[in-house]
Amino acid sequence: MLKFIYIFKFVIITILFAFMANGSANEQGQFDIKSISTANLATLDDQIFINPWLSLQALSQLAPEYPSMTQEAKIWWLLRKAQCENLLYFYQDLDQTLAQIAPLINNQTNVEQQARYHYFEGLSLQRKGGYHKSREFYRRSMDFAKQGNFSHLYIKAKKELAYTYSLAELFEISLKDMQEAYVEAYALNDRFLVAIINETYGAIYGYMLEHEKSIEYYQKALDSYESLNYKAHASEAIYGIASTYRYWQKYDLAIEYFKRYQKNVAFTPNENITYFGAYGLGMSLAEKGSCNEALPMIEHALNLNGLDDYDAELYKRKASCLIQLKRFDEAEIALTKVNELFQALPELMGTAWQLESLKIAAKLESERGNFEKGYQLLSRYNDKYTKLLIKNSSTRAITIRSAMELERQGIEKALINQRSKAELLEIKNREQSNIQQSYLIIFLLTLLMVVIAVVTFQYRNNRKMAELSITDPLSGLYNRRYIFQYLDKLIAATTIPKGHLSILVIDIDDFKKINDTYGHPIGDRVIEVVSTLAKNALRTEDVMGRIGGEEFLCVLPRADTDIAEKIAQRMKNEISAYKFDAKDDKSFSVTISVGISCYNEEVSDSKALYGLADQALYQAKETGKNRVNVF
Ligand code: GH3
Ligand code: MG
Ligand code: MG
Repeated sequence: MLKFIYIFKFVIITILFAFMANGSANEQGQFDIKSISTANLATLDDQIFINPWLSLQALSQLAPEYPSMTQEAKIWWLLRKAQCENLLYFYQDLDQTLAQIAPLINNQTNVEQQARYHYFEGLSLQRKGGYHKSREFYRRSMDFAKQGNFSHLYIKAKKELAYTYSLAELFEISLKDMQEAYVEAYALNDRFLVAIINETYGAIYGYMLEHEKSIEYYQKALDSYESLNYKAHASEAIYGIASTYRYWQKYDLAIEYFKRYQKNVAFTPNENITYFGAYGLGMSLAEKGSCNEALPMIEHALNLNGLDDYDAELYKRKASCLIQLKRFDEAEIALTKVNELFQALPELMGTAWQLESLKIAAKLESERGNFEKGYQLLSRYNDKYTKLLIKNSSTRAITIRSAMELERQGIEKALINQRSKAELLEIKNREQSNIQQSYLIIFLLTLLMVVIAVVTFQYRNNRKMAELSITDPLSGLYNRRYIFQYLDKLIAATTIPKGHLSILVIDIDDFKKINDTYGHPIGDRVIEVVSTLAKNALRTEDVMGRIGGEEFLCVLPRADTDIAEKIAQRMKNEISAYKFDAKDDKSFSVTISVGISCYNEEVSDSKALYGLADQALYQAKETGKNRVNVF
């Protein structure tokens, strides 16, 4: 019953007439009737889609030339006429035209004409409810289109074939074919083809009660038609939206869209075109429950020359409304009319549309008080309807939907896979670079540690070397070079008041004899012990060095001769008191002699000061050793 998609192509008349009435020079200026001639009959598709009414008039002007046309031109002329009549929904004219074409078609006819002819035959049969036969024509149209590589014709025929299946509630096959047609149309990147397929999806989803999707697809189609300026098609889409809202039970929206549709067809000279507007409004009002408004509209529609299957629907609503208004006898007459109409449409027997008449009949009997009869009718209806639902909605619809879902999911999965692969790669790359970075950091840290170690080692080594260069290894005291340098620096840097810097020159007495008596190692030991004891006898600020084999120099800042002498005496006493171990539990002691000199104006450097102390030491040796002598 929802064949309106195909039926409302004649809406264009309205628009054309509207433009003519408005005297839209621009619109008319775009269309040149004279541009249609015998020579260009094969290339008129777009012109006809935009303006089927003016196209039909232009074609009529070529009628006198018809007898003199070639066979091929004749077929073209008739096909173009059929095309206009189809869009304008002049059914009877279309059938007459097709009857004129039929005898002209033979094996010599070119494949494009064959494809087009079979397509229109299919449409005509489909409208009459001959779905099975119409499919045969569509298939032949597809075959011819394929032979000549006419993708547009092929896709259009395939889409019609699919739609025919859905009219017989064979949704599974229908959607499968639609999907294929959609893929092909999409591949051709043809807006018009995609739009007509979207529109058909709108209708099919409407049947499947997926209203939101239905509206969505119709709206897509409507947008495309409007941008293509195909006004007849746009009106079909508006009608489709209105119908879906009706089935969705959003009656106010349905009424709004049916009115929008009616407005578009208000200027048509074809009285029949108002049938569909009246039909939509009558049905919506009745279903909404506004029977008082609905009945006159339904009556108006029934008085127009409409379609049998649509009339059956109108009679059903009329019966329901009459039952509601308790006009039972009139309701019974209406139901009889319904049954008569369905009898004449065998392919619709057993569909939900036909079964509904049982439900209405049951309601009528119940309202009349014939409850038993009413109950029987209702249970018959329920039984049949349940079976139908199981057949269609549950199994098929679920199968189709899941198949389509699967297909989409497949594509999405592939996309997600690709994306996650890319992400994985990115993560790997990131990890790789992280590892590389860690390696670099570890390397740099190691390098830094090595550098620190080397620097530390070098530093310690240098310090050791420096120490070594100023230290005497045996005694641990400063060496000769350092102690003299130190003394020189002290003399040079300080303006020392007279008597404020003294030195001691120490020499171990008879050391040769110790070496000779106890051996050289013991001699070394004596040097070590004497060094330690001498150093301990000094003050913290005093500095001592070994300047020869068993000879030492002590620098005593801020010490006059008295202080120096006291220190030297203490040193001499402690050393002489010390007992060295010799072999056989014997011990021995050593003595030192000390020469002291004090810094004064006459002393210019360390050597001079040392010379004075050495003279004093010499004196000490000369006068018996083991003594301190001040210069
Ligand atoms: P004097 O009382 O006049 O100073 O007599 P002396 O024997 O101490 O002086 P001399 O200069 O005659 O002898 C010094 C000896 O010291 C000579 C040398 O073999 C010894 N000697 C020098 N350096 C070392 C050393 O490092 N270790 C040892 N064991 N002996 C050394
Ligand atoms: Mg000596
Ligand atoms: Mg000596």
